[in-house]
Amino acid sequence: MRAVEVAIVGGGAVGAACARAAALRGLKVAIFEPGPVPAAASPASAGLLAAQIEPGDDGLVSLFVRARDLYEPLGPALRETTGIDIGFWRPGIASLAFDEPAADRLKEDVARQRQAGLRCDWLDAAEIGERWPGAAPDGLGALYAPEDGALDPEALTRACLADARRLGATLHGEKVDGLAMSQGRLAGILTARGTTPVEHVVVAAGAWSPQIRGLPRPLPIEPVRGQMAATAWPDGTPPTILYQDRGYVLARGGEAVLGSTMERAGYDSRVTNEGLAQIFRGAVRLLPALITQPVQRMWAGLRPATPDGRPILGRDPEVERLWYATGHGRNGILLAALTGDIIVELLAGGAPDIDITSLSVNRFQ
Ligand SMILES: Cc1cc2nc3c(=O)[nH]c(=O)nc-3n(C[C@H](O)[C@H](O)[C@H](O)COP(=O)(O)OP(=O)(O)OC[C@H]3O[C@@H](n4cnc5c(N)ncnc54)[C@H](O)[C@@H]3O)c2cc1C
Repeated sequence: MRAVEVAIVGGGAVGAACARAAALRGLKVAIFEPGPVPAAASPASAGLLAAQIEPGDDGLVSLFVRARDLYEPLGPALRETTGIDIGFWRPGIASLAFDEPAADRLKEDVARQRQAGLRCDWLDAAEIGERWPGAAPDGLGALYAPEDGALDPEALTRACLADARRLGATLHGEKVDGLAMSQGRLAGILTARGTTPVEHVVVAAGAWSPQIRGLPRPLPIEPVRGQMAATAWPDGTPPTILYQDRGYVLARGGEAVLGSTMERAGYDSRVTNEGLAQIFRGAVRLLPALITQPVQRMWAGLRPATPDGRPILGRDPEVERLWYATGHGRNGILLAALTGDIIVELLAGGAPDIDITSLSVNRFQ
C-alpha cells in the first residue's frame, strides 16, 4: 500500500466522521475497520441528540449544543452526496420528573439553560398531557428542550464512510494491532499484513482503543454496556422522544426504540433479563401504551467510557502526529461530527475555535 497521510483506527461513528472530515480537507485517508465488532457502540446506539438533556456537567452544554446543530446542515449534505438519509429529526426531547427532587433539579436546569440563552421550557403535568396524550400520567412535569432530537446512528456511520470514500479515502477491513514507532517517532501502523507507513494516526477504536499496542500511555477507557430493545410504536400515539433519569423511548421507523442500561460487564455485550426488565419498566412509565406492544428486537453495545464522562480529544503530548478521538461515553453520536471537525483542524495544523483543553488525554496523568 502507498503511504497514507492519515490512518483512522476504527470505523464507528467517530472514526467515520473523522475520516470524512479529513478527506473533505483533501488529506489522503485510510480507515482501518475489521467489523464492526458485534459489541460496537455506534450501531447499538439510540442516536439521541440530547444536548440539553444529558450534559452531565455544565462545561459540556455549549459543546453539546454546537455538536447537535452541526447535523442540521450535515443531514441534507450527506443525502445529496451519498443518497443516505441519516434520519435527522428535531421534535424536541422531554425529560420527565416523577418525584419532587427530580422536578426541582430539572427546574433548576431549565433556569440555568435559559440564562445561558438556550431554548428550554418547564412543562407542568397538564401541559405534558396536552402535548403527548397518554404519556407519563404520573409525571409531575418535564424539562423540554425543543431543539434536541435524534438521528439514525447506523445510517450516520454508513453515510460518513461512503462520503469519505467518495472523496478518496480507502477502507481496509483490518484490525490495527499496534503503532509502529521508530526512535520514539510515529512511523506507521501494524496489522496482520505488516507495517503501513503513515504520517498521522487517529485513535478512534471506541472501547477497544486501550488495546492498541504501542500507545505511549494507558488510556483510561472502560466498556460500559448499554442494553436496548425495540417494540412496535403504539397506534394513535404521535411519534416523540421521552426521557427520564437515563431511560428513554424514541420513535423511529414505526418502532419504539427503548433504552438503556449502564453496566460494567467487561467486554460482554449480551442482553440480560435484568437489563431488559429495567428498560421495559422505564419505558412503560413514560408511555403506558407500550405495555401491550410486541417486542421486536433486543441488543446491546459497549460505550467507551472515561472516568470523568468526557471524551479524549486531541494530540498526544509526547508522540507527534498521534491523535485521540475516543472515550465518547454516552454521547458519541451527538459528538461525532464535531469531533471530526476538531480533529481535522488539528491535523491540518490549525487550532479549533473551541476550547478542548479539558478533553486532553493529559488530564489523566
Ligand atoms: C446502547 C447504547 C445507546 C447509546 N445511545 C446514544 C445516544 O442516544 N446518543 C449518543 O450520542 N450516543 C449514544 N451512545 C454512545 C455512542 O454510541 C458512542 O459514544 C459512540 O458510538 C462511540 O463511537 P466510536 O466510533 O468511538 O465507537 P464504536 O462505535 O464502538 O466504534 C469503534 C470501532 O472500532 C473498531 N475497532 C476496534 N478495535 C479496532 C482495532 N484494533 N483496529 C481497527 N478497528 C478497531 C470496532 O470494530 C468498531 O467498529 C449509546 C451507546 C450505546 C451502547
